[in-house]
Amino acid sequence: MTHAHPSHRLIVVSNRLPVILKHEDGRWIFRPGSGGLVGALAPVLRNRGGTWIGWPGVVEGEAPLLSQLLRQATRDSGYTLKPVTFGAAERDDFYHGFSNEVIWPLFHDLQSHCNFEPRYWDAYQKVNRRFAQVITENARADDFIWVHDYQLMNVGRELRALGMSARMGFFLHIPFPPLDIYMKLPWRFPLLRALLEYDLIGFQTLRDRRNFLQCLRLIAPDLSISGKGQVITVRVGSREVRVGTFPIGIDFHEFAQEGQSETVVRTANHLHEDLPGRQVLLGIDRLDYTKGVCHRFEAFRNALQRFPELHHRVTLIQVVVPSREDIPKYHMLKMDLERLVGEINGQFTQSGWVPIHYIFRSLNRTELLAYYRACEIALITPLKDGMNLVCKEFCAASSERDSALILSEFAGAAAQLQKGALLVNPYNVEEVAEAIHRAVQMPTDERRARMHKMRRSVRDYDIFWWVDSFLQAAIARDLSDFPAPEEYVPHTEAISL
Ligand code: UDP
Repeated sequence: MTHAHPSHRLIVVSNRLPVILKHEDGRWIFRPGSGGLVGALAPVLRNRGGTWIGWPGVVEGEAPLLSQLLRQATRDSGYTLKPVTFGAAERDDFYHGFSNEVIWPLFHDLQSHCNFEPRYWDAYQKVNRRFAQVITENARADDFIWVHDYQLMNVGRELRALGMSARMGFFLHIPFPPLDIYMKLPWRFPLLRALLEYDLIGFQTLRDRRNFLQCLRLIAPDLSISGKGQVITVRVGSREVRVGTFPIGIDFHEFAQEGQSETVVRTANHLHEDLPGRQVLLGIDRLDYTKGVCHRFEAFRNALQRFPELHHRVTLIQVVVPSREDIPKYHMLKMDLERLVGEINGQFTQSGWVPIHYIFRSLNRTELLAYYRACEIALITPLKDGMNLVCKEFCAASSERDSALILSEFAGAAAQLQKGALLVNPYNVEEVAEAIHRAVQMPTDERRARMHKMRRSVRDYDIFWWVDSFLQAAIARDLSDFPAPEEYVPHTEAISL
């Protein structure tokens, strides 16, 4: 087997380019994208030389002079940016359709939310082929191609069909579902076969990898596995594929430092001045049914019903960032959330105390960090989440180290943060209510000890570790250097029969 040398060029492929095209003052401009992934991959791309390929944010014909604008953006970012463009109808069926009405709900175990429209699969294949064509035009045989996420699972197969011989890796940022759920997908077998065209497949947690391997056994009963650490080798027929677990991290130091800036501290103090003597619970989520915000509101209601001593003492600030509102399920979710907030506030509000503060917009960076710092308890209870970065950012920014985290056991981050967080089953509203009660009463010493453990893990396994370990796994000769990450296994109560 030939290995991509670490100095070989890197081709990063993701649904969106790491720049945002904006129409300002009558003209189109690119603004640099933000976020951990861009921050971690940009230096690698600059140092090795490389290209980022993705959709620029507009459909064909929408922004004239696109290539000229991208040339300028390339000069500004220090690595090459190449666009993949397609028409509005294709974009709708590929992105809103197959990606977000089929794969997203199914891979988050919510099969009843799926719309298995056959047209979507055609568009998915076509757009993935389009990505593969642009990659082929820009990659050489000795490059390493790193494809990201559920919108592009078929790209590897399309690349091989076009004769691409370069080594290729794929990372799935969302969960991989258990066998019984995956089997509902009408295109289950071609999709699995497509994934096997990659040389390295990465998942967020050991649970996701195990689910994937179980599905693989169906199409490959002769599957053989060697190794048992973070990265294992799977032999399927003539193919040898590495399959690894790489829990994604954040830029810990950036959050820790920015969280202490004067502006952030001032804004955080302002936020808390308005809520004197209260413990503030914080939820920050994109508008998405996987985030479990309705269940969270019900749990909060349950806590207020069962523990009247919490009245006037706690406030829940729930930020919901608008997302995918043109998909009917998301629009309905927004209405459900507004109804629940109205109901719960109507039921419990008293003079000087409104239990839920609901914010439906995105926050700027200072506000985001100020909320992380101002709130004593983060309430992060997704029904299922690939990783969940908000809880890691909360830990990093929490410089007083005496805040608490209530975390869903179905978030990928649960494996890593289990020693410090209060882990809950988000479907169990009584359990979440008890965790709220417990967190509010938790002594400062215990909070500090728990937060210390979580911060250490978030710091040690940051976004730079993640990029590095994925790229190392693609080239390493000896995989025994990759020890298995922690796994979360729900505690079972002993049953005597
Ligand atoms: N975030 C943001 N704007 C906001 C609130 C949050 O950009 O107004 C960021 C947040 O800092 C985090 C990301 O959105 O990095 C959410 O990531 P997460 O993994 O928690 O969930 P996802 O939205 O990717 O499912």
